[in-house]
Amino acid sequence: MTKNEIQQHIEDLIDYQLSESNLTREDVLEVTMLNCLEEFYDDRLALEDLLKCAKYLEYDIDVAAAEEEKATRIRRKEMRKARRVFKRAEKDVLKHADTIKVVDFLFKNVTKKGDFLYVNCPFCKDNHSVAISITNKTFSCINCNMEGTLFDLMHKAKRYSYKKCLVTVAGLSNYHNDYVITLKYELGKENK
Ligand SMILES: [Zn+2]
Repeated sequence: MTKNEIQQHIEDLIDYQLSESNLTREDVLEVTMLNCLEEFYDDRLALEDLLKCAKYLEYDIDVAAAEEEKATRIRRKEMRKARRVFKRAEKDVLKHADTIKVVDFLFKNVTKKGDFLYVNCPFCKDNHSVAISITNKTFSCINCNMEGTLFDLMHKAKRYSYKKCLVTVAGLSNYHNDYVITLKYELGKENK
């Protein structure tokens, strides 16, 4: 941005703050600087423009700290996104999961009654206290009250990571979405 554009940008921010709050002009300048920093963190303001804003507001800015904060925020955002994508893939795989095949893979002693499979509890070790719903792909133990999905059961019974659980359940159920295919490839690389 040119110097005039920066000035206009800052003045707009200041006017907005003054009209929306009861702050003094001095406080408004401080808030305006914080706003500029937020814009920088969100990639809406380039570093050179941030520095121009700081100069205009006569604010002594710590560039290294600002850049570090920005990097941290980007990392956090990426992690949140990755978690969301993983949860969505888990939900999709669970929907298509073959409960009977997965449970047969996990336990030796399986009894079936109606929609339920009964196995020994991997949490409290109680005999046939875990009921797994074939339709809902969830389990609960009448002894220790643990409950969860097929993934939680596999995570405990096999000590697999949740990523490996996802790939394994998908494989046993013969269901592969794009996420599973990529994850399988990544896990394969990690194990080499
Ligand atoms: Zn239990």
